[in-house]
Amino acid sequence: MSNPLSDRIKNMSTSATLAMAAKARELRNEGKDIIGLSLGEPDFNIPDFIKEAAKEAVDQNYSSYTPVDGYADLKQAISNKFKRDNNLAYGLHQIVVSTGAKQSLANVAMIMLNKGDEVILPAPFWVSYSDIVKLAEGVPVEVPTSISTDFKMTPAQLEAAITPKTKMLWFSSPCNPSGSVYSKAELEGLAEVLKKHPHIYIVSDEIYEHINFVGGHVSIAGIDGMYDRTITVNGVSKAFAMTGWRIGYIGAADWIAKACTKFQGQNTSGANAIAQRATIAALEAPVSKIQFMIDEFHRRRDLILELLGEIDGFNLNVPEGAFYVFPDISSFFGKTIHGTTINNASEFALYLLENANVATVTGEAFGNPNCIRISYAASEKELREAVTRIKNVL
Ligand code: PMP
Ligand code: GLU
Repeated sequence: MSNPLSDRIKNMSTSATLAMAAKARELRNEGKDIIGLSLGEPDFNIPDFIKEAAKEAVDQNYSSYTPVDGYADLKQAISNKFKRDNNLAYGLHQIVVSTGAKQSLANVAMIMLNKGDEVILPAPFWVSYSDIVKLAEGVPVEVPTSISTDFKMTPAQLEAAITPKTKMLWFSSPCNPSGSVYSKAELEGLAEVLKKHPHIYIVSDEIYEHINFVGGHVSIAGIDGMYDRTITVNGVSKAFAMTGWRIGYIGAADWIAKACTKFQGQNTSGANAIAQRATIAALEAPVSKIQFMIDEFHRRRDLILELLGEIDGFNLNVPEGAFYVFPDISSFFGKTIHGTTINNASEFALYLLENANVATVTGEAFGNPNCIRISYAASEKELREAVTRIKNVL
C-alpha cells in the first residue's frame, strides 16, 4: 500500500539493534523470559560522582537553551580529554557537542556529503553508518573483511576501494560489532594509502576507546598527515554508562566544526543542559574511576569466548575491545535444526530468539551476512544461561 511519506524515509532501514531490543521488550511484556544480548548498552549504573554533578546542575538552574555547540567549560573539558587521552590538540572552536555520537555522525554526513559521494565502510561496520550516509545522499562502499584478518581492512583493500568519487572513510576502533582494535602500525598502513588521496576525509569513531583490553588506544588523527582530515567522534554513552543521557562530541578542523554547529542549529540546537554539566564531571575524572567496568567487560569477554567456544559451528575472533562478540555462524546455513532450516544469519538470530529466548542481532545489519552480534554487556549469570540455552537449541 503506497502512502505519501518521503522516499527518504521509505528507503531507510530501521536500526536493527533498536528493532531487536524493541522485539525483546515486547516478548518480555508477553511474559517470555528473554535474555537480551542485542543492545550495545553497559548494564552498570552511572557512577555516583556523575549523578551528583547532574543533581547540582538541576539545583543551580541549568535550565535554559544551551549554546548550539556546547557549554564552553564542557568544550574545555573535552579539549583537555583529547590532550590527556589521545595527545590531540583540539581548541574550543574545533569541538561540537551533540545529542549522542549518533547525532555527531549525522551532522558530519550532512555537512560533508553531496549526492553520489562515496563513503568507504570497512565491513562489519556499526549498524547506522550506512543509513546515515544514504540519508545525506552519499553512497556507502562496503569493504568486506573476515575473521581471517580479525575483521580489519588492509591497506591494499582500502586502496582498491578508492575511486575519484571517494569522499570519506568511516570506521570505529574498537569496532562495533567485531571488537577489533586497529594497532598504530595498522593505522599507519591505512594512512600511507590515504596520503596519496588527499581529497578523502576520515571519520574515526572512538566511542569504545576506553573499553580496550590490550591498552594503547590510537587515534588516527595523531598519525602524520591525518589531523586536518580526520573528524574524531566520541561520547560518554559507553565508557560512563550514560547511554540515555545522550551526549556525544567531535574534534575536527574548525571549518567542519563550524558547519556542524550551523547544521545542528537548524535541527536540534544545543544538547541537554543537565547532561552536559554531568559530562564535565565524567570527562574530568581520571580513567581509573571507570576501570572497574573495563575490568568487568574484560572478564566477561573471556567468559563468553570460553562458553561459545564449546559450541560446534561458532567461529570466533578474539575481540580486543568494545563489548561484543561477532561469531561467524555460516556453518549452520542450509542445515535443518529441530525442523527449522537456517538459510542466513537473520534466520539464525530469529531461531535463537524464538527457541532459546535469547536476543542477538543479525550480522547482515552490520554488513556481514555470515555472523551474528552478541553483546556481553550483561551479567555473568545471564551470559551463562544464554549460552546454555543456545547450546541446547542447536
Ligand atoms: N558509534 C558506535 C560505534 C556505537 O556503537 C554507538 C552506539 N550507540 C554510537 C556511535 C552512538 O552512540 P551514542 O549516540 O549513544 O553516543
Ligand atoms: N550502539 C548500540 C548498539 O550498537 C546502541 C543501539 C543503537 O544506538 O543503535 O547496539
